Amino acid sequence: MAQNGAINCAKYGISGAGTHFPDPVARGRLAVAHLGGNNAPGHRRAQSGGVMTILVIGAGLSGAVIARQLACAGQAVTVCEARPHVAGNCHTTRDPETGVMVHVYGPHIFHTDDAEVWDYVNRFMTFQPYRNRVKTTARGQVFSLPINLHTINQFYGRTMRPDEARAFIEDQADTSITDPQTFEEQALRFVGRDLYEAFFRGYTRKQWGMEPADLPASILKRLPVRFNYDDNYFAHRFQGMPEQGYTAMVEAMLDHPAITVHLSTPVTPDAVGDYSHCFYAGPLDGWFDHRLGRLGYRTLDFERFRHDGDYQGCAVMNYGEEDVPWTRITEHKHFSPWEEHAGSVLYREYSRACGPDDIPYYTIRQVREKALLRDYVALAEAETGVTFMGRLGTYRYLDMDVTIREALDTGQLFLRDGTAPPFVHAPL
Ligand code: UDP
Repeated sequence: MAQNGAINCAKYGISGAGTHFPDPVARGRLAVAHLGGNNAPGHRRAQSGGVMTILVIGAGLSGAVIARQLACAGQAVTVCEARPHVAGNCHTTRDPETGVMVHVYGPHIFHTDDAEVWDYVNRFMTFQPYRNRVKTTARGQVFSLPINLHTINQFYGRTMRPDEARAFIEDQADTSITDPQTFEEQALRFVGRDLYEAFFRGYTRKQWGMEPADLPASILKRLPVRFNYDDNYFAHRFQGMPEQGYTAMVEAMLDHPAITVHLSTPVTPDAVGDYSHCFYAGPLDGWFDHRLGRLGYRTLDFERFRHDGDYQGCAVMNYGEEDVPWTRITEHKHFSPWEEHAGSVLYREYSRACGPDDIPYYTIRQVREKALLRDYVALAEAETGVTFMGRLGTYRYLDMDVTIREALDTGQLFLRDGTAPPFVHAPL
């Protein structure tokens, strides 16, 4: 990746940077010279020669992107990651038995309309074309998602053309709902009760552990309804999968002489005093030792199993019915359709409330969480020398492309004058 690294630095305005991955021996040991140094609050200093020392906490997408950008700008960057690997929840690894690339924390599909972000990720990894075509099992049949003309015709046993289907669905819809606020209202207004109950109600109760009537409409707005046969789950211009997985892509981002990565290295806020600035991509409430309580998340459990051959014929099979306890089954080799594998690795996915020792996935952002979030944001805004970023640092649902865009913008802002506020992207 040496060539790619040089290109990246050139693109982001830096000269003379080669690449190397930090000494693997340094990974996993707590050997950051600055950690445990002068921890006096407010103590910030730059290294000699005007180089700033930057601490990045978290080696997921946010951390890797900002580390790369600041390293390319000539800053000395230390990245500390609590887990034993980089790439956060998009970490991928090959299953030793089948050779299948496994999305360890559940599937991640890259999709964006942001040409600059697409260009950016392609500098670190070749992307293969990938279209997410999701199926769902409901009422003993397999249907196509997102709801499209095939779904509607199959569900109602009809052969409607686009305009007929549109008029038909409008007849099913509850048009008395003029301004849908909840998930349920959004569904009843735009697809009607039959499709809502078959595809959304059960799945959503399993996924969120709540009534759809108590969830915001914004969750369902992520899914389109189409009156044609387009079954691409996403509508974005650029879609694909990193050929060698997300972890290799993130490793390539971090592969820079000015970046030192320490894995299995949790860091507490009092360790940052010796750095010019800290970018924190861990959980917002974790920074404050959860002193006001815990922000709520959903976590996922994966029941991993192998199969000889092709188990389900597609990457993602959702289960809309409530008496099936899992939300979906993912077959990971189908996320790399350019590869061939005889064996198969699958995840049965279950959702539940996130406990203190679980991995946080989905922010909940209900009334209670928003009130608590407001209090944490007030605490965070009083901090100096630290910027909270990313999905966990700002407690927001973020797609990968948005995460990268925000990290690039945060880095650019910081590089103007060497400062950044606690939040460049407001959590509320
Ligand atoms: N959803 C559903 N049935 C499905 C797929 C999705 O009810 O078969 C709902 C569910 O509440 C989910 C939301 O639609 O949280 C958004 O779906 P998306 O695929 O964006 O979920 P994510 O990828 O974030 O898990």
